[in-house]
Amino acid sequence: MTKTTLSADASTKIAVLGLGEMGAAIAKTFVGGGFPTTVWNRTASKSAVFLDTGAKIAPTAAEAAADSDVVVLCLLDSLAVNEVLRSLDSAISGKVLVNLTSGAPAQARTYHKWAKEHGAAYLDGKIMGDPPYVGTPQVNFSFSGSAAAFAVHETALQSLGTIGYHGDEAGAAAVEFMAQVAVGYEMLIGFLHTLRLVEAEGFDVEYFAERVGASMAGYPGLLKMMARAVSTGEYRPDLGSLDVQVALMDDMISHRESMGVEAMRMREVKSLMDQRIAQGLGDQGFSSLFELLIPKTR
Ligand code: NDP
Repeated sequence: MTKTTLSADASTKIAVLGLGEMGAAIAKTFVGGGFPTTVWNRTASKSAVFLDTGAKIAPTAAEAAADSDVVVLCLLDSLAVNEVLRSLDSAISGKVLVNLTSGAPAQARTYHKWAKEHGAAYLDGKIMGDPPYVGTPQVNFSFSGSAAAFAVHETALQSLGTIGYHGDEAGAAAVEFMAQVAVGYEMLIGFLHTLRLVEAEGFDVEYFAERVGASMAGYPGLLKMMARAVSTGEYRPDLGSLDVQVALMDDMISHRESMGVEAMRMREVKSLMDQRIAQGLGDQGFSSLFELLIPKTR
């Protein structure tokens, strides 16, 4: 088995495999940062954009990898990653594989194992942000996996945006990513339903969004307080006691229903509050609903 090269400087050779919107932005950032960069894409026309940029264009993924120290994957999904990894085979030996494709923790752990079996170090990376902002602090890259590889290539990775390292458990960055994205989607679908309510009442949705944005300033402290309550099991009456909060729930539900707006989530909240109160715990706060959200048997 070849020994992985773990010494980096500005001459670290980087391959970027996958030149979709995100992959192309990443490759351009490495080229702009002066890193010797080789690019490959399944559809060759997307590589042509890199002619005259100083990047090398490889005819195959394996040739791009063979010519590099760090091999960055930014592909559509795990099916694409599996296909490209199969084509790399021994060309990855001795390299650092950095997979920036979105996906689940289990996939990251599988790629980590694959890399190890093929003599490569593995870093899993997850991206939050838009391609045009790659290379600025507005895009977040979370990494986990080989601590040595992260330390050695931190400077190159930093050129992509704001970076964070979540430890050597390969799935950790994906856990963080999936959880962050889930919080975003769950909150934003609630926001969209509420915009329906605001609109149905004839109010200006843009003005309302500004008001909600201002209220968000209080959320970081609230989130920390709730997480503390969950980790200690000490549920103070955050947002008020459940006994008081529940009194509003029927009005919230009937307001939505009267305007023809979905009230499913409000009914869920009320049902959880009712259960907790029935347990004699109505003096506790909103965080205490966590105790009822028990994962179903896997
Ligand atoms: P695109 O759809 O623009 O590009 C997808 C890339 O995957 C292309 O290079 C495509 O090649 C390649 N690909 C797809 N299937 C295969 C396959 N079977 N074999 C080889 N290559 C394949 O996606 P993005 O670049 O936008 O996204 C890439 C990753 O970045 C995704 O995991 C995405 O979730 C993540 N991401 C994207 C963001 C965004 O805003 N775009 C934001 C945050 C994360 P071809 O050109 O030949 O089709």
